[in-house]
Amino acid sequence: MNKQNFSDLGLSPEVLKAISDLGFEEPAPIQAAAIPVLLAGHDVVGQSMTGSGKTAAFGIPAIELCQASDRTVQVLILCPTRELATQVADEIHKLSSHKKGIHAVPIYGGASYERQFYELKKGVQIVIGTPGRLMDHMDRGTLALDKVKMVILDEADRMLDMGFREDIEKILQATPKERQTVFFSATVSRQIRDLIERHSKSPKSVSIQQKEVTVPTVEQWYYETPQRMKFEALLRLVDFHGYKLGIIFCNTQRMVDELADDLIAQGFSADRLHGGIAQAQRTRVMNKFKKAEFEFLVATDVAARGIDVDDLELVVNFDLPYDAEDYVHRIGRTGRAGKKGMAVTFVSGRDIYKLQYIEKFTRTKIRRGTIPTAGEVEERKVESLLDQVRDVLNRGNLSTSQVDRLLEEGFSSTDIAASLFVLLGGPAAETRPPSGNAAPPAAAPETKKPKPQPSEPQPSLRPPARGMQWVRLSVGRETRVTPRDIVSLLEDSLGLPGRSVGIIDISIGQSFAQVADQYVDVLKNGPRKIEIQDGFVNISHVPVQRKEREYAPNNRPDKPKYSKKEFRKKKY
Ligand code: ADP
Ligand code: MG
Repeated sequence: MNKQNFSDLGLSPEVLKAISDLGFEEPAPIQAAAIPVLLAGHDVVGQSMTGSGKTAAFGIPAIELCQASDRTVQVLILCPTRELATQVADEIHKLSSHKKGIHAVPIYGGASYERQFYELKKGVQIVIGTPGRLMDHMDRGTLALDKVKMVILDEADRMLDMGFREDIEKILQATPKERQTVFFSATVSRQIRDLIERHSKSPKSVSIQQKEVTVPTVEQWYYETPQRMKFEALLRLVDFHGYKLGIIFCNTQRMVDELADDLIAQGFSADRLHGGIAQAQRTRVMNKFKKAEFEFLVATDVAARGIDVDDLELVVNFDLPYDAEDYVHRIGRTGRAGKKGMAVTFVSGRDIYKLQYIEKFTRTKIRRGTIPTAGEVEERKVESLLDQVRDVLNRGNLSTSQVDRLLEEGFSSTDIAASLFVLLGGPAAETRPPSGNAAPPAAAPETKKPKPQPSEPQPSLRPPARGMQWVRLSVGRETRVTPRDIVSLLEDSLGLPGRSVGIIDISIGQSFAQVADQYVDVLKNGPRKIEIQDGFVNISHVPVQRKEREYAPNNRPDKPKYSKKEFRKKKY
């Protein structure tokens, strides 16, 4: 298909800049089709499936229509629910962020009238609201609609289902007759046709039908995980299944860059492809990936179009695609030539609805999976290590000269064998509960540990996630402390919202948690001691450096700063 660019659609530089800030690489089909028709001033009935980008399809022309110098309501967007009104308002805010003097405000039930009244009085060009509350404001005389140039009914079918018909008609009647009237919906029922007929002038119909698709026979799994836990989930799945070659899809260039950096910081070999990278470089990356010269390619849909790699084990939808067709294209990159492939999709928040739609559209079942626990990952790694050892043992023909030397030096054969496991990346002595006469921890070979901390035992923590820092709490598993307890301890002592706590790792005698940067400052001058029911808990900062931006594999030093073994061994 010949795809268009946003820059072909006749948009202002301010809006184009906002679109590029959002990381949208190219218009979604409904956007490419509807935006020019809306800009030309026609009434429009737009139809495309959920998650296909309808908001920007009407939001962009709405913003372009507004006169910044005039602070009266010029665009009215009706939404069925408060949640949708907020979402649409958020997207309009982002899309208009470079347009000076354009203001948009959501108006919905359940929020204070005073605040909404204040906002409206200040003067806004775009009002996004639910019909009920808009009617209230009209009745109170706090919302004037006589300068409205465009009315948009988002999810029009749903509004009718919810019984808003009468309110909608009244609101439409309160706006000037020569307005532009726009309907957007995933479905267009008879009811809505009736409404359209009575309230619009020769509307143009813009409809994006999903094409029939053949879904490749790959195993499809989804994992529900909050956004901030996705990276951890990815690491665990990769460690657990031992994937060696895969593509990871993100929706924006920024996310691609972040994720590629994060993977490299964890010692993987990874590279990236997105529309912001020069073509010559893209070709280089692509060729290297085809030759499996690195493990994971992080990419946007646009950049990965046309990639043809055999033996791809894994496709990850780090972000759910906004288009069901893209989902099919993405997962079709694995399972080629009858080989078995795996498609993994991370789903956060309301993505689950989009996923259900994709299931319906593709007529396949995407199975729900659970992320393996840190313990399961560890267990699996040990098993595979043992398998490898058994293999070698079964093959026989082993030379024992090195072992003999060590035996002569007085080491026992079990200790020699155990230390070889440590060298292979198996669990080291330091993961065991500290006990009085524990042997000194075996030193990991050749790898530099992060800077030792003066006063505390140095845990082997992986670098924290972006924007996070590790803190240590002097309370461990033996007290039956739960992750929830840790969160409330942190909430109480550092005054942070529970949402800003990331990964929590509870071991014996101590626990670690990742906490958003801004809440860690209070610990920079020393630990905090907080009283609990039967004693005290010390909370301290554990500085572990993030590895900053480094491109793989070109600019990679021969050895990653953090060895894969050191950081992926344990501590989740
Ligand atoms: P719909 O209203 O059709 O259900 P939305 O407008 O809510 O869909 O869009 C779904 C998601 O897709 C949003 O997260 C939005 O930011 C994103 N999106 C929209 N247009 C694009 C685009 N051109 N490129 C990438 N992502 C997009
Ligand atoms: Mg929508």
